[in-house]
Amino acid sequence: MSAPKVFLPGSTIGVLGGGQLGRMLAQAAARMGYRVHVFEPQAQCPAGAVAHREVNAPYEDLAALADFARGCDVVTYEFENIPAAPLRHIEGLTQLYPHWSVLETTQNRSREKRWLRAHGVPHARFAEVAAGGDLAAGLCEVGIPCVVKTADFGYDGKGQLKVMTEADVPAALKKFAGQPVVIEQFIDFACEVSAVVARSPGGELRVFPVSENIHTNHILEFSIVPARVPAAVLQQAEQLAARIAAEINLVGVMGVEFFVTKAGEVLVNELAPRTHNSGHYTLDACVTSQFEQQVRAICGLPLGSVELLSPVVMVNILGDAWGLTAGSTQAPVEPDWAALLAEPNVRLHLYGKSEPRAGRKMGHFTVTAPTADAALALARRGQALL
Ligand code: AMP
Repeated sequence: MSAPKVFLPGSTIGVLGGGQLGRMLAQAAARMGYRVHVFEPQAQCPAGAVAHREVNAPYEDLAALADFARGCDVVTYEFENIPAAPLRHIEGLTQLYPHWSVLETTQNRSREKRWLRAHGVPHARFAEVAAGGDLAAGLCEVGIPCVVKTADFGYDGKGQLKVMTEADVPAALKKFAGQPVVIEQFIDFACEVSAVVARSPGGELRVFPVSENIHTNHILEFSIVPARVPAAVLQQAEQLAARIAAEINLVGVMGVEFFVTKAGEVLVNELAPRTHNSGHYTLDACVTSQFEQQVRAICGLPLGSVELLSPVVMVNILGDAWGLTAGSTQAPVEPDWAALLAEPNVRLHLYGKSEPRAGRKMGHFTVTAPTADAALALARRGQALL
């Protein structure tokens, strides 16, 4: 086997997807002396604003994609819902990391769950129902309570419905009629945690400190680090993340989400072969951020230290902070950034999105403090100021 290629500063990194994850990758890469090109269907994207070049075309435009790929030394993706076929197309034109097959496995819940089962990774019991299949039979197989999820293109709770009692069944049958779905056992978890793992082409592995995550309306609200869970849970999460990265042959970074049951079991919920919202805390509280680690991994450089420098809490800032609620037509009111920035140990990250919408991720802030509980109290105070 030939030695993996190394792309030194000065090389050009291509990013498929132009959202905030691409933006923070571009910022980290630029700081390290790389050039960054962004490919994104929608013009004026958050990543394009800080990149050397922005190309706007659909992912299915193979000619535009091939042209983009030829202009880059190494290409990665920041968005999970890119169709895998165009990625396959550029494989021979440039170095693509992670491999397209990693995206193909993880972007579809059926394939992802089958992969977890085949590799002996603990997960919630599930049943698959093909398009036009018998959803009612699937619900019987898994049992109530359960969660029905579309097999394709789901994130942040989109395309899923909890079936807690028999009374919820008709709504599920209606919502998912004809669609391929995965039905998962409902996990009455004690908490949710996640780990971001990085792996280089040579197989070097690093797992960032595990984050404890609090979701509201299916969207991450707080990440708390160190996670306030027993050491055995941390160890299981770290070991699972590392094993998954190695066995799926990851090159790059991956977010691994877990449920921690009341009995202390650690079950994998979801894999995302990219930087992860719950890893944003690393920008302000670790020696190396997840974005710098992504650059190092895909460029074949030594991975950086994942040491945590301080307990920290990350708070997502949604469009709701502009006073917006779903479906309403009121004009957005700019949050009081000055009040937040007057707080000591707060660091604000905004993604440059011009149009706030309810539930849309507009930015985040972090707060460091001597303990995780103290950071959480400060985070809630900061949130109330917006
Ligand atoms: P997902 O899009 O699958 O990550 O789901 C979003 C959120 O819904 C998770 O972070 C959980 O809070 C909740 N959820 C998803 N699946 C389950 C499940 N099987 N049991 C309990 N809660 C779940």
